[in-house]
Amino acid sequence: MSQDIRVPDIGDFDAVEIIDVLVSAGDQVEPETPLIVLESDKATMEVPSPLGGTLSEVLVSVGDKVAQGDVIARIDASSAQDDTPASQSSHPQAAGKEREAAATSEAETDADCDVVVLGSGPGGYSAAFRAADLGLKTILVERHAALGGVCLNVGCIPSKALLHTAHVIDEAAAMAEHGVSFGEPQIDLDKLRGFKQSVVDKLTGGLVGLAKQRKVEVVHGHAEFSAAHSVQVTQGDDSRQIRFRHAIVAAGSRTLRLPGLPDDDERIIDSTGALELRDIPSRLLVIGGGIIGLEMANVYAVLGSSVDVVELSDGLVPGADPDLIKPLTKRMKARLGHIWLSTKVTAVTPDDDGLTVSFEGEQAPEPQTYDKVLVAVGRRPNGDQINAQAAGLEIDERGFIPVDRQMRSNVPHIFAIGDIAGQPMLAHKATHEGKVAAEVIAGHKTAFDARCIPSVVYTDPEVAWVGMTEQQAKAQGVDYDKGQFPWAANGRSLGMAYQDGVTKLLFDKSTGRLLGGGAVGPNAGELVAEMGLAIEFGADAHDIGLTIHAHPTLSESVGMAAEAAAGTLTDLYIPKKK
Ligand code: FAD
Repeated sequence: MSQDIRVPDIGDFDAVEIIDVLVSAGDQVEPETPLIVLESDKATMEVPSPLGGTLSEVLVSVGDKVAQGDVIARIDASSAQDDTPASQSSHPQAAGKEREAAATSEAETDADCDVVVLGSGPGGYSAAFRAADLGLKTILVERHAALGGVCLNVGCIPSKALLHTAHVIDEAAAMAEHGVSFGEPQIDLDKLRGFKQSVVDKLTGGLVGLAKQRKVEVVHGHAEFSAAHSVQVTQGDDSRQIRFRHAIVAAGSRTLRLPGLPDDDERIIDSTGALELRDIPSRLLVIGGGIIGLEMANVYAVLGSSVDVVELSDGLVPGADPDLIKPLTKRMKARLGHIWLSTKVTAVTPDDDGLTVSFEGEQAPEPQTYDKVLVAVGRRPNGDQINAQAAGLEIDERGFIPVDRQMRSNVPHIFAIGDIAGQPMLAHKATHEGKVAAEVIAGHKTAFDARCIPSVVYTDPEVAWVGMTEQQAKAQGVDYDKGQFPWAANGRSLGMAYQDGVTKLLFDKSTGRLLGGGAVGPNAGELVAEMGLAIEFGADAHDIGLTIHAHPTLSESVGMAAEAAAGTLTDLYIPKKK
């Protein structure tokens, strides 16, 4: 006989929206298995099953509104396990499950914290701090001594400190053309390394202070799920169990290794090894012409290495528009030894003289010998390192944790954010997602609904874009108008002796709204912030063109690209379309 499962007392609400239905007819459920997720103006809440058994019907869908007493599902009484205590159950497996369920609810009421956050990168620390600011008792777990994750310790921050150094060396050399000559740079590697580390330490130390101020407890050790509501944190011989009501997994990603390469040769490094700056190799090969590979190639080439780059696809920075990449490729060709595109590394053979690398492809050179090889072919998420199955957490075949727009995994009280939750693997995406997850847990009606995420290549020149690329617009058959402004006509850029830059904006032909934009040139990364805001606000070419931009600035190129699209540009002569 089927029994009705009704919406329990949910407070003063009479029409609350269902934002997730977690079960289907035929599903076997246990007492406390979440069935649906409700969202009111004030809170998000799960409705659990009061009984165990097989659901014969699920009567609601996402988007329906329900109130206390409404029937949401029917459970088959013939197979339903009643409230018989586990010890009296006739089925040993069922008894085990009941014990597990009882332990689960006990863990929920008896939890050490409202939220445990696994990983202290930009996603994890933002989530933890936001959760604490919202009044949730929060524990942040990090396996390394320093907080800050990849970004602060071995990613965004140290790479930018070194790129700044490279930029200054480049600029100083370029001044010779304007009548100001400096001597050859004398590089004190220890001091340079020390500068880079001081920047990292300042930021990671700052996080310790911010955690203390917010009363976020920081626990150091490797965290693994031990059950749906608990993680085991291990450091050396010490081990501690943390029971939680909610978890946010922010365990990030690690570098991908190329299969077939010798794995115990110190001369084959990844980005972390490159950022250690142990020496400046005379001959360096960078495998991978993406963002990280090119940033490191830029640094080492300016510091004095002879750098070659090999890339499997037919252009640098796959995914970016080729017209924005062209000035970068031109500059890189002048700065580097060789750039081999559409070329694959087939073998690396180590000997005392160096690493001999063999290539395959139309442009492939003869085998070349290098002192070091930097592998920068991508990153893989750390989903395989947290014992996800103990919590019933789904991990896809690539190691990502699939999540919905609220950053919720298949286990409703466990969330995932940042690199481990999907592409693009960028710090600012992780931060944004971290805040969404914390707010959802605190009961806010929120979701990840950003229209765009900017990308920046911090090379010299910088390349940056946000929203839809022109390649994507073409591939998706989107009808667009393009406004473009060459930096050769921008006074500020000319004063900086840079003529190759360009800013472009793409507008939807039917709505007039900005779809995407990008720029290449010094500080291009700063310019896409305005474009991102314009996309979020649904601005059109007139909105941007009529915004007064300071003169002379590089940001004027954004205003003028918009004017070019609006037909109001006076700084260039653009014949009217007939
Ligand atoms: P992470 O920063 O990877 O942090 C995860 C944390 O979790 C780590 O501290 C790790 O130790 C910890 N952890 C993992 N597993 C466990 C466990 N089981 N228990 C306890 N702790 C655990 N992005 C940008 O936006 N801009 C840039 O300029 C940029 N430059 C980069 C340069 C380089 C060289 C690299 C490698 C990356 C760069 N990135 C950049 C990418 C950026 O670093 C990541 O997107 C970002 O760090 C992801 O943040 P996250 O919080 O998801 O994870």
